[in-house]
Order: sequence, then structure tokens, then C-alpha cells
Amino acid sequence: MRAEIIAVGTELLLGQIANTNAQFLSQKLADIGIGVYFHTVVGDNAERLDQVIRLGAERSDLVIFTGGLGPTQDDLTKETVAAHVGVELVTDAPAMKHIEDFFAQRGITMTENNRKQALVLAGSHVFANDYGMAPGMAIRHDGTTFVLLPGPPSELYPMVERYVLPYLTELLPEKQVFHSRVFRFYGIGESALEEKLIDLIEKQDNPTIAPYAKEFEVTLRVTARAATTEQGEALILPVEEEIRRRVGQYIYGTGENSSLHEVLVQELARRGETIACAESCTGGTVASLITSVPGSSAVFRGGVVCYTNEVKNQVLEVPADVLHTDGAVSAKTAKLLAEHVREKLGSTYGVSVTGVAGPDPSEGKPVGLVYIGIAAEGSSTVVKELRLAGRRHAIVGRAAKFALFYALQMQKER
Ligand code: ATP
Repeated sequence: MRAEIIAVGTELLLGQIANTNAQFLSQKLADIGIGVYFHTVVGDNAERLDQVIRLGAERSDLVIFTGGLGPTQDDLTKETVAAHVGVELVTDAPAMKHIEDFFAQRGITMTENNRKQALVLAGSHVFANDYGMAPGMAIRHDGTTFVLLPGPPSELYPMVERYVLPYLTELLPEKQVFHSRVFRFYGIGESALEEKLIDLIEKQDNPTIAPYAKEFEVTLRVTARAATTEQGEALILPVEEEIRRRVGQYIYGTGENSSLHEVLVQELARRGETIACAESCTGGTVASLITSVPGSSAVFRGGVVCYTNEVKNQVLEVPADVLHTDGAVSAKTAKLLAEHVREKLGSTYGVSVTGVAGPDPSEGKPVGLVYIGIAAEGSSTVVKELRLAGRRHAIVGRAAKFALFYALQMQKER
């Protein structure tokens, strides 16, 4: 099945928003084995919209629209597709009730143009909008399936997951499942990972292997196409063994929702352990990542943002001569910060980060030089020296993730 995505909205053309709906849809369609061949963006203009509808109908089996289903004059998608297909717009009774209930519950008077949102193409398959008003819909015409979806991602994402993907899966000629496993890596960049797996990636067919980088972490998704989940699993297993053999030391977790901070919090909770942090250049990023995980209160004792030398000295008792001789950005300072924050806050682990985030060097030390200290009850303190590349934001983000990664490593080794 050849698919294309048409995003409708002048604000997209003006660069006021990015076309993230197309990105999301392409990923979701790839997951069920539908190839997307074109992304188009068109403004709120009936004539130009009609042009791209005609083109889509000619070259694709599936054309998915996002946006332009709203109540205002410039929302034209339904009208224009209806004219192309040659059907009327009719009121969808459940959608109308949903809209009326929405206004009644809030005690607001419904304006006439809101009724427009309950209009659907006659004979279409309707997708309920559980998080908004305008329903989505699908209609087949001359061998092409047109799917119309709302623009707001908060409405589109759940509609796609709940209703649209099951609907499209039914249209596929062969019934098949897509079974995937996600591997999460740290301590290795995307290109280095790709290099180590390049022969596997190049000869991939089933399963497919796709590396991608997000939020300073690298993820590898292995996806198998098969008649059943069990058969999919059997296809993934030998590939997984080979990946683990080559780069297993960098894998810290598997699964969709398992960022470093989530895995660390889970592991600490499982072992009944706690953590505290002393952060200089990361300015609280480590603490923020940990506390973004629900349940972190059971494992996170607290943190000190020891940005100045005074705080390092007065609050975390790094001796003035160490700060003077070795410097704030040094292995010795990192070690003492980790040990002292652990002792003062009474945690199993103490993690420290001190470095030069840039843009200018500090203490004569280069941008990107970072020291991470990991102190643990009953173990000797480990200090790691890193030379991170990138701008300030990236150095801070990577340093924070490295701190979490080394804490996990220390935990494994104890
Ligand atoms: P509404 O009922 O809110 O008018 P709609 O279906 O008519 O919804 P649009 O008016 O086209 O959709 O877009 C509404 C909002 O959805 C936009 O302001 C934007 O924030 C978001 N949006 C629209 N299209 C996209 C897109 N392709 N990618 C990401 N966000 C989008």
C-alpha cells in the first residue's frame, strides 16, 4: 500500500509550527508496514488543496489529511475532499451529541459554527474524537482511501492509536503483526553504534534495524513482520543475540519507556536504595530528570546545586585549597562533592557533576571537560573524566545522562 500525508494549514507554510503530525503518522504507518512516499503541506486554500487531492488520488492508495476540520471558515478539508469524491456532508449523530454534551457540561452556549464540526462525508467510516470535537473519517473512492484527521496533536495521536491504525490494518491484504524490541544505549554515539552494526543494518529486511537518537540517548528498534507475535519473536531472537554480542556493554535497558532516569529510579526502588546529587555545571538537570519519574520520592533524597565555589566549600565542604589548586572542575572536587553530598543527605549513592559547559573555557580548562563522581556506601568512589562535544545545552544534557549512566553502572558492579 502506497501512502502519502497531506498536512493542511497556512501556519505550517509560514513556519509558525512544525509538521510533527506527518512525522508521527509516518512512524506509525511504518510500524504496520505501510510505506509513505510523499509528505505535502498546503495552505488553507480550496484550489491548491484540490490540486494536491487530485495528485494524491492519482499516485497513492492511501491519502491521509491532518488539519482543517475545525469550525471556522478557513477549515476546508472536509468540503474539498467531499467535492472531489462527489458526496454530501451529513451530520454524524454521535459526534453531534458529543459536541452538545461538551458545551452542556461546561454551561457554555454552543455557537452555530460548532455544528459544522459534526459534519462528515456521507458514507464515511467515522473515528471518534475522544479529546476534542471534530471526528476523523475515512472514505474510499476510485481505489484510493482518504483519511481525514484533526490538526491538534493531542486529538490526532490518540485517534490514530485507538481507531485509525486498527482500521488500516484491516485494509492490508495480508494479515500480519509487527513485533518490535527497543534497545536503549548509553556511552556510545549513534554513528559509532551504526558502524559496529553496519553489516546487519545493510542486509536487514526482516527484521529491520533502525537506530535513532533522542534526548542524548541512542535507541535501536528491531522490528519483525510475521503472521504471529511468536513468529516475530523467533525472527528477532538471533538478531538480538548478535547485537548483544557486539555492543551489549552499552545496552542499559530495553523497552519503549525506559530512559536512563526511569531505569535508574526503577532499579533503586527494586533494591531499596537511595541517591543524592551535587550538581555544578548541570544546574539541577540530574535532579530534574530523576524527579520527572513517578515514584522517585522513594529513592531520591535531594540535591545541591553547588554552582559557585562558595557553595562547594561552605555547603559541601570541598576544602578551599582543593578548589584553589585542583580547581572546581577537577577529579578531586568531583570525588569530594559526591562523597559529601552522600554523607550529608544520607543516601546509598552520591553523584556529582562539575565541568565546563561553555561557551567560554573556565579555569583555563576547555569547554566540554566534565568530571562525574559516583560515591557509594561501602565502595570506593569512582570519578570519570569526559570530553563532551557540542554546545552548552548539549554538554549539560549529555553530562546529566552520563551521571545517571555511571550511577547505574556502579549499582551493577556492587
Ligand atoms: P481545530 O478544531 O482546532 O481548528 P483543525 O482540525 O481544524 O482543528 P487546524 O486548525 O488545522 O486543525 O490546526 C489546529 C492546531 O493543530 C494548529 O494550530 C496547530 O497547533 C496544530 N496542528 C495542525 N496541523 C499540525 C501539524 N501538521 N503538525 C503539528 N501540529 C499541527
